[in-house]
Amino acid sequence: MTIFSKIAAGEIPSYKCAESDKFYAFLDINPVAKAHTLVIPKQEVDYLFDMDDNSLAEMTIFAKRVAKAINTAFPCRKVGMAVLGLEVAHAHIHLIPLHSEGDMDFRKEKLQLPASEMQEIAAKILAAFE
Ligand code: 5GP
Repeated sequence: MTIFSKIAAGEIPSYKCAESDKFYAFLDINPVAKAHTLVIPKQEVDYLFDMDDNSLAEMTIFAKRVAKAINTAFPCRKVGMAVLGLEVAHAHIHLIPLHSEGDMDFRKEKLQLPASEMQEIAAKILAAFE
């Protein structure tokens, strides 16, 4: 079981932002920006672009709903979407609220937000998720 499967199953705690029967969204523990969110399939697949077409399409549509919730909860110019997967071998999409290009820079120092603030951010996104 991957660490992200354990998160989706509730075996490892996470700051939940959204959930469906097939997908789960939660805050990145080392965010590059406030409300940096990860979207994962509950099914284990290493790499996003190895997913079958239907699952990938469904996951993209789920990510779109999460992006809308992020934008509602934390208004921004756009919500950026990125696929890296260099660290965790369980497909995931990064969603990051953008005010400027630099907000999507994965090399910059990560934010350290207190647990209470992470909880608050996730709750706001979850409340805005439709
Ligand atoms: P990538 O695989 O896309 O290169 O990076 C994995 C991302 O997952 C990183 O941004 C990292 O901060 C995040 N991450 C890794 N382990 C955990 C975890 O246990 N919980 C959460 N919430 N995020 C994680």
